[in-house]
Amino acid sequence: MLNKIKQKALEEHIPILMDDTLETIKEILIKEKPKKILEIGTAVGYSAICFAKILLENCKEKNILIDTIELDEIRAKEAIANISNMNLENIIKVYIGNAVELLPTFNDKYDVIFIDAAKGKYPIFLKEAIRLSHKDSIILADNILYKGYVMSDYNKHKQRTAVTHLREYIKEAKENEILETEILEVGDGLAISKIL
Ligand code: SAH
Ligand code: MG
Repeated sequence: MLNKIKQKALEEHIPILMDDTLETIKEILIKEKPKKILEIGTAVGYSAICFAKILLENCKEKNILIDTIELDEIRAKEAIANISNMNLENIIKVYIGNAVELLPTFNDKYDVIFIDAAKGKYPIFLKEAIRLSHKDSIILADNILYKGYVMSDYNKHKQRTAVTHLREYIKEAKENEILETEILEVGDGLAISKIL
């Protein structure tokens, strides 16, 4: 069933988690055993379902909650259907709306926060993620190297606004003293920040 969701998403060119990125996140989840996860960018629920399955299969704790936000209503509804087909509706809650507007209304603290939505909003998402974190929380940001554009000198392509914001994210993640950040070249680039 999960493979069907994955294949359909790939056919529809929905940018779901790449396999090597998922492997890296899997290791982090097994090590950290988060009880509460926040995801920004649900798409059709593939990554949230993967996270839930990893935790259910690898950790004793069954009391897991994943809050995930999706802007596109059609995708969000497909995610809700996928989640319910996998019997994970008690674990994964989909919020439909713009994360830039919804996040300020959230107040719970999360153990792991996964940022995987509009690249131009990454600096805003990081600020909100820090606010919704506690000591030892982990903040992950996918696509942080954006096809290599972020680390290259070439600045004239049409993605330059996104690239500027991703660079801003990296700068803040590295310079903010409450964060310890590493950037991995898996998939499309993954930033891993720990709250000190
Ligand atoms: N995490 C998913 C893939 C997410 S793709 C997975 O790996 O399976 C990125 C998604 O972010 C898209 O579906 C897009 O509609 C959504 N998105 C973009 N900007 C957003 C915003 N401001 N708030 C919420 N969702 C957003
Ligand atoms: Mg992504």
